[in-house]
Amino acid sequence: MISIRYVPSIPPPDINAGNAESPLTGVFAVNTPAHDHSGVSHLAEHMCFRGSAHFPADHELFVANALLPLSINASTHAGYTYFYVQCTNKALFISAIQFIYSGMVNTHYSNGQFEAERSGVLVSELSLLESNTDYANNIAIRRNDTSPMAYKHAGGFSDLMQNIEFNDVIDYKRKWYKTNNITLLVSGKDCGLANVCRQAIAEVTDRPCGNSPQAKTASTNATLTEVQSSNLNTNTIINPSAFSAHNETSERYVSTWWVPEHFTNDLLTFEPQIHTNFNQLGRFYIDCEVNHKGMIAIRFVHNANANHQMRVHTNENLQSVLTRLTIKPKPSLFKDSKLPGGVQTLVMYYLQNNAPLHSRYPASASAVGTRSLAYYLASPQKSSTIFHLNKETNISPNTSSTPDVNERTSATLASNFSSLTSLDNLPPLPRLLHKLAALALQDLEQKFKHADKHWVYYVDKPFHCHLKTMITEASFWRPRTNGDCYALGVARFNEHVFIYAAQDSQLSTRACWCKSTLTSHT
Ligand SMILES: [Zn+2]
Repeated sequence: MISIRYVPSIPPPDINAGNAESPLTGVFAVNTPAHDHSGVSHLAEHMCFRGSAHFPADHELFVANALLPLSINASTHAGYTYFYVQCTNKALFISAIQFIYSGMVNTHYSNGQFEAERSGVLVSELSLLESNTDYANNIAIRRNDTSPMAYKHAGGFSDLMQNIEFNDVIDYKRKWYKTNNITLLVSGKDCGLANVCRQAIAEVTDRPCGNSPQAKTASTNATLTEVQSSNLNTNTIINPSAFSAHNETSERYVSTWWVPEHFTNDLLTFEPQIHTNFNQLGRFYIDCEVNHKGMIAIRFVHNANANHQMRVHTNENLQSVLTRLTIKPKPSLFKDSKLPGGVQTLVMYYLQNNAPLHSRYPASASAVGTRSLAYYLASPQKSSTIFHLNKETNISPNTSSTPDVNERTSATLASNFSSLTSLDNLPPLPRLLHKLAALALQDLEQKFKHADKHWVYYVDKPFHCHLKTMITEASFWRPRTNGDCYALGVARFNEHVFIYAAQDSQLSTRACWCKSTLTSHT
């Protein structure tokens, strides 16, 4: 049995749950090391939402997040993967825990599911991230860094995804998604919650199930699920590039100083100031992901015209500025703005109490050591890398639009809790699409608006009464389950309802598709 912890109180009540009643929160933390840049731990996380013995429908997660009063998602970090649910209804919460757990331990997939997830959804997701210049440059620097300290990029790169084979993911899941590697943390006003969860998990572990996953192993069964659309709510897409002052394609030298993670907090405080002071010479930034040695990277990307002597001089200046500042070691806090507050608190609790080997989160400041930043700046841990800015690493998602979805299976949570399903539970429209939605509202004759590979479709009020049926059906989610796009959904924006998608490779046909999908339900 997995380890289950009840965490008594999580003040303040989570505002992201959108409910005055404090929600029940559950977080599965899985020990999932990244040994390389392949992104296999990221793909393994995606596959956890591709159906399971007890929840066979591939659109289960989408329907639940759209219509039920809950929020389920997952996030892969270097070293750990977190799956969470927040919900105010206890019975639904327990079922959602069973849904997540079944998916985590499932290792039966069809080639079609694997192919759609790897070459469709994940490549689309990574391409979207890599279309941001800052992100692209940062990972280009990571890829070119050959020092023993270099990051292993857990998320993966779009052009390397094809190297992951079916059995790599199955082997990875078998190895790491095991009971002794999984911890469930629960919180909420119910101290018996851990016991109820224990029982619920035992049920989906032992109970033989009629809908066996083996029934789905036909090699052409292309179906998939997952709602990783949280990447659509970050500002990285819209922000002007921090590298934009130097956006010509050219070879660049990057100086890196590796310092213990405990300096992260203070370094981030000074980052904008140092960046401004050195702006004429290049780009200063902190990559605050913690590497396998418990270190973070202080990077400086020198301007293209800086010769060796200039670079040495800049490095010396930078070192002396950093040494003069008051930068002290402090225990750092877990922060991931993509996760709801209550979930972050549980992750923090987990890292402090259950993962003593993870150096980032010591229980007290005394554990952080006594050496000053200057010691590390002067140490031989620093490294120098050459990379090419704005290197095109994007490849087009290799998707199959063959409608080969197992549509006989219905979404279990939505049918078991049908009395709780409501359009009132529709999530807010992802931030990335707000501009498009606002444009659509200005001209309602043109319900479909698109930019790049993203689109929104305004749903007229008379159609609202049919939306629940449409959302519950597997066929509606086919563009996503086939891997044609990174995200698909129905969401609210200023009291209006929109269908939307991001990174859709079949953009040209979507206006018609929206119209016919809606009218077929009237
Ligand atoms: Zn993802």
